[in-house]
Amino acid sequence: MLGAMQHWELRVSGLIDHGAREHPTREIVTRMADGSTERTNWSGVRRDALKMAQALSRFGLKAQDRVATLAMNHNRHLVTWYGATGAGGVIHTINPRLFDEQLDYIVNHAEDRILIYDAVFRPIVERMKPRWKSVEQYICFDDGEFDAWIGAHDGDGEWVTGSERDPCMLCYTSGTTGNPKGVLYEHRSNILHTLYSIQPSAMSSDNRSVIMPVVPMFHANNWGFPWAAPAVGAKLVYCQTNDPVWLCELMREEGVNVVGGVPTVWFAIFQHLDASGQELPPIHTAMSGGSALPRSVIARLMAAGVRVGHAWGMTETSPVATMTYETPDWDEKSFDEKVAYKALQGRAGYGSQVRAVSLDDPTVELPRDGKTAGALQVRGHWTIQRYFKAEEDAAGPEGWFDTGDVALIHPDGSVQLTDRTKDVIKSGGEWISSVDLENAAVAHPDVAEAAAIGVPHPRWDERPILVVVRKQGCSVSGEDLSIFLADKVAKWWLPDAVEFVDEIPHTASGKISKKDLRDQFSGYILPA
Ligand code: AMP
Repeated sequence: MLGAMQHWELRVSGLIDHGAREHPTREIVTRMADGSTERTNWSGVRRDALKMAQALSRFGLKAQDRVATLAMNHNRHLVTWYGATGAGGVIHTINPRLFDEQLDYIVNHAEDRILIYDAVFRPIVERMKPRWKSVEQYICFDDGEFDAWIGAHDGDGEWVTGSERDPCMLCYTSGTTGNPKGVLYEHRSNILHTLYSIQPSAMSSDNRSVIMPVVPMFHANNWGFPWAAPAVGAKLVYCQTNDPVWLCELMREEGVNVVGGVPTVWFAIFQHLDASGQELPPIHTAMSGGSALPRSVIARLMAAGVRVGHAWGMTETSPVATMTYETPDWDEKSFDEKVAYKALQGRAGYGSQVRAVSLDDPTVELPRDGKTAGALQVRGHWTIQRYFKAEEDAAGPEGWFDTGDVALIHPDGSVQLTDRTKDVIKSGGEWISSVDLENAAVAHPDVAEAAAIGVPHPRWDERPILVVVRKQGCSVSGEDLSIFLADKVAKWWLPDAVEFVDEIPHTASGKISKKDLRDQFSGYILPA
């Protein structure tokens, strides 16, 4: 016997239908790169997405065909998410910062049929066109081209229907080795991730929310904001360029109360505020993820009365899997205790599970004792099972997916990331967390960015060195930093050397590239 309730396939088109029906006039605002401001609303996005679906049908798009975008955050890009998925296709958001080899690989691997791009990325398109064999049509978002393409239709159509398990979105993640790998989200996984992410214990959004996703739309499902916002009738505020001056202006002008950005975005915002002597605009929630949010930043946000939502996740987890949500005894905690708690990577929400297993023997699950670090694994309704077109599953038979992160889990379930499996430094048989060292170092007022890597050592196997970018006009020395770190990390963790550089290499998604840094410092001779 089946239950006797209604069954509706969980498809993302239902989100925009809801937004347009219940919150038709709630706005989507974009500050374009030329400084102009564009406004639409959920009703307008739905209408344009339906027009785009008609345009795609005219083009001959078949179910599950890939529609690629090479674009920053803006309203038209948002329309393509709903237009492509509503036409039964798969939206493939491409990271324009990838190298040519990776761009070549992913477009051909995805077999994208249409590619829609921002004018600023035209040089990439022109350069790559001869190598992108599958793309039949290119459309520019700007100069009226996209508007004319969809404008040839009246929007008087319907979404393509199908199974909730159909794919709807493709995001490639570029590892440090090998080719990028495609994560193929389903309608259902995106809806379940949406229902999770809007909860108070996650991103806490509702009809009053004015959300500014600073995270790029091409990165990790834009943290799910485009799906979640119409579900609750939130206003969305996009900025095509990530200039902190514009971001702060927009926050003030549009009444933004929720901002989602990686730690470097927060660093840039605070640098701008310090330089200009301005206060943080009156937001109530700061979401951060993608890399560890240092305590100093958390303390500064919390001192300004901002709720911090430090999340952990990956492209493979749609992306949010854990979040630091407030505990029942929150009001009894001291400020420092709250900051320390928020510096962890958070607890799994319903729909995701986490565990740590031994680094030496993955069959051994480690206790949640807040001490024993191991390989972090995750499973759940919006965790990957298999990469796009891969022959083998990426997750085990019970769904456990090896994240490549090293973490310990506290008794209350809080995850604390200590490293990437590949970045952890092994000294004298003991693990040193490069992340902890970096977090401690960036708390120094003169430090803009810091990265710890292991370099070979004849006796200890590896010893840490710290690579530091000073803030402009600052003159902190290696010795100053060692003194500063002395009471913050174990004595044997203290870096053997501090090297100052103008710039630390970053990956296409803006994270510190330890691989490039290790290459840069290969052959490094430690001081005697
Ligand atoms: P990506 O798929 O590019 O979003 O990268 C996912 C990886 O980013 C994770 O496996 C972690 O290594 C890292 N990461 C994500 N969130 C956090 C966080 N809150 N703290 C530390 N590292 C994080």
